[in-house]
Amino acid sequence: MREYAYLRPSDPAQAVAAVSEDPDARFLAGGTNLVDHLKLGITAPGLLVDVRRLPLDAIEQTADGLRIGANVLNSDLAADRAVRTGWPLVARALLAGASGQIRNQATTGGNLVQRTRCVYFQDRTTPCNKREPGSGCSADHEQAYGRYNAILGASEHCVTVHPSDLAVALAACEATVEVLGTAGPREVAIEDLHRLPGDEPERDTTLGHGELITGIRLQRSPVLERSTYVKVRDRASFAFALVSVAAGIELDDAGLVRDVRLAWGGVAHKPWRAAVAEDALRGSPLSETAVREAAEAELAQARPAPGAAYKMAMVRNATVLALRRLVPDVLGDVRGDVRGESEEER
Ligand SMILES: Cc1cc2nc3c(=O)[nH]c(=O)nc-3n(C[C@H](O)[C@H](O)[C@H](O)COP(=O)(O)OP(=O)(O)OC[C@H]3O[C@@H](n4cnc5c(N)ncnc54)[C@H](O)[C@@H]3O)c2cc1C
Repeated sequence: MREYAYLRPSDPAQAVAAVSEDPDARFLAGGTNLVDHLKLGITAPGLLVDVRRLPLDAIEQTADGLRIGANVLNSDLAADRAVRTGWPLVARALLAGASGQIRNQATTGGNLVQRTRCVYFQDRTTPCNKREPGSGCSADHEQAYGRYNAILGASEHCVTVHPSDLAVALAACEATVEVLGTAGPREVAIEDLHRLPGDEPERDTTLGHGELITGIRLQRSPVLERSTYVKVRDRASFAFALVSVAAGIELDDAGLVRDVRLAWGGVAHKPWRAAVAEDALRGSPLSETAVREAAEAELAQARPAPGAAYKMAMVRNATVLALRRLVPDVLGDVRGDVRGESEEER
């Protein structure tokens, strides 16, 4: 492991200045992703700027919702009463991720900027365009690992998927990300934070070097009060999503869908807002057939390789299951659990 310098600035502007001035510097928060990468040799920064103790750890009520500091721990965010009542999909997404120990260390900001779990990205002995631009992509769609690949929005340069459960829930919330750079603060819609790989798969997000996430803002809405997160995975903990669905719904007095939010995880290089499916459902009577057809309409854009084609049916079924949990009186009760769902999420 390369030796690195370590800096613990006392305010966010100092942290931003330190990283911006040095192309070889990185922010360090809880370290649950970055320290693994140091050990694996995926990254070897010359300077680590520790942002974990910056005063960005409050959850505050705002006029129309909540502001969550970037250093709020995943465990604290999942346990927060306001989050659990106003944005249950956020709490559920967090509880579906990692393990209790990791959630006690991982931060909100670091969670959003965590990097892909693609085996080839994490294995320095294999070419990977994300780790080493221009080196090629080792992903073989027909081999066992092909089952983890994207089915939407992939490019010939990268077929991996985004790992964060929280980011998928925040996509359904239409969260706003607060960012600090050398030019001052700016806001980014969560939709615009993560990107599709295109021909620059090395760029996971639209953040510039040295830009620090300082907080997240959530707007209160009835569609998010009745919301949930369903994650399908290989085992109950320490497993990333094969597919996941963040869903919220609001019905009017006549039983028509007044509003609906759907975002999918495990299917693309970024959280996938299922806007086509939402449009198909809005204003219509809710039924299982309508949900299946809406998901199908969204999946018209999918280009699954054979190894990952099973995700088509899986994400469609997980979408039905998520909405069923929210409106069992309309869509019918849920029988059985999602494979691998842990006790604390139920
Ligand atoms: C075994 C295991 C299982 C896991 N399972 C899941 C899972 O199922 N679902 C899931 O969603 N996650 C999972 N995770 C990932 C975990 O959630 C992330 O590692 C964690 O959220 C990262 O937060 P951190 O504070 O530790 O970030 P760090 O590791 O400190 O940093 C991660 C990245 O974010 C950057 N960064 C940190 N803070 C900021 C900031 N404020 N602004 C800009 N950049 C910043 C760092 O420079 C670094 O590039 C798992 C991790 C492990 C080790």
